[in-house]
Order: sequence, then structure tokens, then C-alpha cells
Amino acid sequence: MADDTDVDVVVIGSGGAGLCAALMAYENGARAILVAEAEDVVGGSSRLSGGVVMGSGSRLQKAAGIEDHPDDLLHDYMQLNQWDVHHGPVSTFTRRSGETVDWLADHGVRFFDRLIFGGDERKPRSHCVDGAGQAVIDVLHSRCRELGIDIALRRRVDRLIVEDGRVIGAQVGEDRITAGAVVVASGGFGANPELLASHFPAAWHEGFTWYIGSDGAQGDALGFAEQVGAQVVGRDRGLRTLTPAFGRLNEAFLPGWTVLLDPSGRRFADETAPYGILDGLVGAHGNAGFVVFDDAALRPPPELAERYRDSYKQVWPNHPPFRSRNYNADIVDEMVGKQRIATSDTLEGLADLIGVDPAVLVGEIERYNGHVEAGEDRDFGKSGKFLMPIGTPPFYAAAVRPATVNLTGCGLRIDGRGRVLDAHGGEIPGLFAAGECTGGVLGTRYMGSGNGMANALTMGRVAGESAALSLGSSC
Ligand SMILES: Cc1cc2nc3c(=O)[nH]c(=O)nc-3n(C[C@H](O)[C@H](O)[C@H](O)COP(=O)(O)OP(=O)(O)OC[C@H]3O[C@@H](n4cnc5c(N)ncnc54)[C@H](O)[C@@H]3O)c2cc1C
Repeated sequence: MADDTDVDVVVIGSGGAGLCAALMAYENGARAILVAEAEDVVGGSSRLSGGVVMGSGSRLQKAAGIEDHPDDLLHDYMQLNQWDVHHGPVSTFTRRSGETVDWLADHGVRFFDRLIFGGDERKPRSHCVDGAGQAVIDVLHSRCRELGIDIALRRRVDRLIVEDGRVIGAQVGEDRITAGAVVVASGGFGANPELLASHFPAAWHEGFTWYIGSDGAQGDALGFAEQVGAQVVGRDRGLRTLTPAFGRLNEAFLPGWTVLLDPSGRRFADETAPYGILDGLVGAHGNAGFVVFDDAALRPPPELAERYRDSYKQVWPNHPPFRSRNYNADIVDEMVGKQRIATSDTLEGLADLIGVDPAVLVGEIERYNGHVEAGEDRDFGKSGKFLMPIGTPPFYAAAVRPATVNLTGCGLRIDGRGRVLDAHGGEIPGLFAAGECTGGVLGTRYMGSGNGMANALTMGRVAGESAALSLGSSC
């Protein structure tokens, strides 16, 4: 440790990125490490996550006989995002993603042997943690404790300490702590409505928008950026899933028996598309829509009950079978009573109620029912096993918006080693960042389940490693 600082490394935030940074700083020689956490609990949104972690080239992937290479993940990631991401950090995070899964397993995180498809990739790359996000945090937290890494709760860093252009510590109120290096791992800004409206306007729908992550996601990194002149990149990026007009029950995937229409009543996508893909499609088709279904979906005849129930592509080993939380008889009947879901005995009547041209809506549903009869969705390729007719009245339509914020993707610009860059592209001495508080890694499409954790955990490790390795130069 440098003689003239209180600690070697200060990490701001105890989510996946922060704890990985702290541990990797330790593994690379730092000893006095302090993690400052704003909330009264360790773990941030990482703790609440589904515990799905994308990674290419892991031991588990090899053991499952899946031939993959981190360069393939990098290639797929760049393609999906039409190259509109920062290749430096993206190449680090994709190339070291498998290694991160191995490292987590070595520390005691238990993964299921079966990998899943996170999005539309050709090879399963997403690893499922037994015990979801909380289990990842529990393992990392207890490793930190074993190694003597300090975690201070209810310590919300409000400013960085800067001297001669170098970040030399962090401040909580009047308390100053100096350090050889500072890692910002303070998460996103999903819990801050003003920042959502200004930095992620596509997700801002008055009366609809809500955040499913932790209260600590206040976007403090954006304040640090202003303070030290760091670049902020990735405006209007993040992951949104669909919020119905009547409630706030997070529903990651639509059941296969729904039909999703745009604001003009046109169908435009396979309703079972992965959420990252559906997010972009809804954005491209009016950023709003209607989920339409019929009464058979709510009260199926016994011989079809199983088909209606098992209507999800996604079967995760660490999650109970997906079931619709919003579109089931109990909720729908209640919301129809409160006039929050439109219902009619005819499709024309339904169209009138939601303000779309009846000829368009009826035409779209008739065409869809034709696909059902043929056993093939000739428009958007939804799998035949999810095709159920919209034919049993009454019919229902719920207004939806892409307004359930899962994560945000705008923040500090970093390079491939987690160093924060200033307005002129120079590295800000002493300052590193990782995870949801950074920008440039998340593109126009969320690649799929596991993308957010892979970024936080891998880049957290990278930032912690770089912070520790920088200590020599700062002493
Ligand atoms: C419900 C849910 C499920 C998800 N499931 C998945 C999944 O299965 N797979 C996946 O890949 N992604 C998932 N995501 C996204 C993923 O969990 C996050 O992107 C990722 O965990 C972010 O990690 P992080 O360490 O950057 O931030 P966080 O885990 O949010 O940690 C940031 C921490 O910093 C603290 N903090 C903030 N400001 C300060 C300050 N000024 N001083 C001190 N501390 C501060 C916060 O309180 C918080 O504890 C999910 C997200 C949610 C909300």
C-alpha cells in the first residue's frame, strides 16, 4: 500500500461489478480494500437478478460438448449491435466472459450443468446459477470477508476526491478516504425517474415506467462524470420489457398464445422472441402496443390446458416454469371489472374500444388464425407449438408500453481495461469503472439473458485487476 493513502483501492458499490473488482484487486496484489455501499444491504441489482450469466469458452460449456469460442461471441455481439458499441470494452468482456464463469465457479458459485440460449445465438452460452443472483452475491461477499476486504454499508459516496487531475479517493459527507485507485461500480439509474426521462427517454412512459432493480440505482456515476469531466456514452440504451396498463408485475416473456399488435392494430413480430429482440421491435413499431388474446387462453378446455400452460420457449434450470403473471383469469377478470383491460364479444367491438381500425384488427387476427390452422406462422415465424387461435369470445386487449426498466446502458466511457476516459479521450489517472454505471458496452439490442451480469462481473474483474496493477505507478 502507498504510505500516504488510507487504502489501496476504494470500490464504490457492492453489486456484482463492485465485489468482483474488490476480489480481483486483492488477487492482483492490493491489500487494503474498501467497498463503500450506499444501501443497507450488499448486492445492488445483481442480488435481485435471475443469476443468468453469459459466457463463451467456459469449462461448463466445454463439458456440455458445446463448441464455442469467445471470438464467436464477440462477432455475434458486434453483428447484433451493428457495430454501434465500443469494441475495446466489448472485446474484453466477451473474450474474458468464459474465464469469469470459471473464476466464479472456483470461488464457489454453483452453476447448473445445462446451459441455455440467452437470446438468438446459435450456441447456448448462458450459465444458470443455482440460487440466482443472491447466490452470486453471497459467494462473492463471503470471499471478501474471508480476505479481510472491508464492506461499509450505508456509505453513499457523494464525490470523488481529485488532486492535480488524479482521482485520489472518495468522500461521504465530510468523511474522506484516500486511495491509490478508485473503482466506480455504482450501477445504473433505473431508480431515478429524472435520469430515466433525460438519459433513457425511450423507456419513459408517463404512468407506465417502473424499475425492477434496487433502490441504489440512482445514477450517481453520472454526477461523478460531471465532477471529473469524464465522457458519458450510451444515451437511450438499456433493456425494457412490456408493462401492461393495469399493473406492475414483472413479466419477462409474453405467453406464446398472445398476439402483439402495434398502435395501429398491425401484428409485427413473433411474440415469443427473446426480450432483447422484442424490445427493439416494439421500439421500431410505435413504442407501444396491445396484447390480444381470447377467453380460451384464460379458461382453456381440459384437453388444451397443458398447451396453454406450457407456452414459453424458455425453460431455465434455476427458475420455476414461466407462467403469465398478468394474463391469467384472476388478474384479467379483475382488470376487466376496473375497465383497465378492453373486452368485447366481437373483434370489431374490441378494435373500437382500443381505437384502432376494425378492418385492420379483424384482418390481422383472421390472418393469424390462418397461420394457426396451417400450423405455421408464415409472417413472423412463431413456432407452431405456440400457435393457438384467437377464436373464443370474449376477446381481450391490454395496452402495453416497453416501460419495465430492467437495466440502463448509459454511463462512463471506459477502455478495454476499465479505465475511465475524459472529454479528450485521455485516461483519468486513478479512476476505473465497471458494470451498469458504464456506457458503450450495451448496444441497441440486449443480446439476451446473461448479458448484463456478464458485463458487470467480467468488467468488474477487469477494473479491479487494472486498479491493483496501477498501484505501482501511483506510489
Ligand atoms: C430483477 C432483475 C433481474 C435481472 N436478471 C439478470 C440476469 O439474470 N442476467 C443478467 O445478465 N442480467 C440481469 N439483470 C441485469 C443485471 O443484474 C445488472 O445489469 C447487473 O447486476 C448490474 O451490476 P452492477 O454491479 O453494475 O450494479 P448493481 O448490482 O446495481 O450494484 C451497484 C451498487 O452500487 C451501489 N451504489 C450506487 N451509488 C452508490 C454510491 N454513490 N456510493 C456507494 N454505493 C453506491 C448500489 O446501492 C448498488 O448496491 C437483472 C436486473 C434486474 C433488476
